[in-house]
Amino acid sequence: IRRPRLSAAAYAEGVLAGDRLLLSRAITLAESSLPDDQALARQVMDQILPHTGRSIRLGITGVPGVGKSTFIERFGTYITGLGKKVAVLAIDPSSQRSGGSILGDKTRMEQLSHNPLAYIRPSAAGSALGGVAARTREALLLCEAAGFEVILIETVGVGQSETAVRNMVDFFLLLMLAGAGDELQGIKKGIMEMADGLAITKADGANKGAARQAQAAYKNALHLFPPTASGWIPPVLTCSAQEGNGLEAIWEMIEKYERHSRQKGYFEHQRRQQNLAWMHSALKDQLKQYFYSHPAVAGQRQRLEEEVKEGQTGALGAAHQLFSLFRESMRD
Ligand code: GDP
Repeated sequence: IRRPRLSAAAYAEGVLAGDRLLLSRAITLAESSLPDDQALARQVMDQILPHTGRSIRLGITGVPGVGKSTFIERFGTYITGLGKKVAVLAIDPSSQRSGGSILGDKTRMEQLSHNPLAYIRPSAAGSALGGVAARTREALLLCEAAGFEVILIETVGVGQSETAVRNMVDFFLLLMLAGAGDELQGIKKGIMEMADGLAITKADGANKGAARQAQAAYKNALHLFPPTASGWIPPVLTCSAQEGNGLEAIWEMIEKYERHSRQKGYFEHQRRQQNLAWMHSALKDQLKQYFYSHPAVAGQRQRLEEEVKEGQTGALGAAHQLFSLFRESMRD
């Protein structure tokens, strides 16, 4: 059942007033792939835009089992303890996790979900235009407009969603397990290069020594990487979400990074670059959608796909044919 439509102004006012129900509805609207919803969502985004940008945006990644949700629960609670409002968003390439939604499980982040200073948004369903990651950026901006000061974006450290998240946050935190080895953790060197900081999780009990060893090893490894664009050397810390240790140091690291990168002018620079990249990525999505739904293309696509699969037509040739059909129909 569809609810009656609100005006863009009604959405924007609700979001700006910090109304959680309207915030949730606005995010759902932004996630919708219906053209009418998209048009309305764009109006809402235009209206809230002047009220965005005043948060610190944190990406948190790591392989399943590293302790992301436990960490976010405790870290988010720690931040609310500082009197700050925290929003948690998740990017979930559902196919990579059995059981669907990353936050769908009610036992995840139980404590934080009842915290009046926190807002948790389960991940979008699979097929949004431009992928799930695309819609997370709108959700992020809506949360900022609603007054959230720290935005945590969780992503599973195995897919392409890392790059997407890296491109929408100020600070990218990589969670790692001690004693598992890089291969075992499926962490690619590329992901380590994207990180502004590492934290070895589960540094408690019998695991403490191993965590310290891993810390030293990763510190050495990171020194072999070229320095990041802002001249920041990613620190490696340890933490235990279970015991609540190391959370304060992680928050301090993030604050230090913010001071460092603002002072260098890098903080704003990175956001400007991200906005620009976002514009082009949105444009690419729109072009792609327009292209594939164009009758000239839609009519021949299946036949050409078959021919490519059967080896009768080369992939490049087929792409060229489709594009030529499209271009010719545009001339008419
Ligand atoms: P995710 O898949 O990355 O979200 O990981 P979870 O947060 O679901 O945690 C995976 C498992 O590790 C669970 O059984 C947690 O209880 C456990 N775990 C998480 N954090 C800690 C920690 O700080 N110490 C210990 N010993 N176990 C932890």
